[in-house]
Amino acid sequence: MSAVRVEHVDELVAYAEATAACTRCRLAQGRTQVVFGAGNPRADLLFVGEAPGFHEDKQGLPFVGQAGKLLEKLLAGIGMTREDVYIANVLKCRPPGNRDPQPDEIEACESHLFRQIELIEPTVVATLGNFATKLLSGRPLGITRVHGQEQETTIGSRTVLLYPLYHPAAALYTPAMLKVLEADFARLPELLGRRLEPVAAREPEPALALVAASEQLGLF
Ligand code: URA
Repeated sequence: MSAVRVEHVDELVAYAEATAACTRCRLAQGRTQVVFGAGNPRADLLFVGEAPGFHEDKQGLPFVGQAGKLLEKLLAGIGMTREDVYIANVLKCRPPGNRDPQPDEIEACESHLFRQIELIEPTVVATLGNFATKLLSGRPLGITRVHGQEQETTIGSRTVLLYPLYHPAAALYTPAMLKVLEADFARLPELLGRRLEPVAAREPEPALALVAASEQLGLF
């Protein structure tokens, strides 16, 4: 492993510690703890969900409820475990009653996710559901339209393959959606084997800037 990557692992740990005291939005008041993310800090594959729920808030870990069990099952289907990947969310704190994230909460929290992406350096970012997909694609297209369609996206200094997937929580109760999610998931090994052109060799494109505010992106 290169010295740079070792430094990034240390930086990720330090960033998680600093984030534990975050008070950027109202969700700080009702949380048990910040759910920063978990998994392999050098993972090639990063999953981004929506926000912690009841169990995640209590345990401090993402995707530990029913949706997490399904995610683990899907990972097992492609020969992977949670330890092979990194799992994070758009929001790091639980919205009350598991309501949808609000635009100002996403805006307040998004730089935590962008920093995670810079430090983990994944090649594939699989967005789970609408909120993560719209934020990281910078487009308002919903998950039903774009699931299973990978696209190269520049997030800050990093070019990744963005791969939108249905959210496992939605697939839990909709067998047809589960079938689609399984089929989309089955393509992950192929996508992880795909090499991305280094940023320097690419034509400049309208970047998804780190500073982009979610409202400016017309997400909602
Ligand atoms: N658990 C999480 O951590 N995130 C989700 O989006 C759903 C469940």
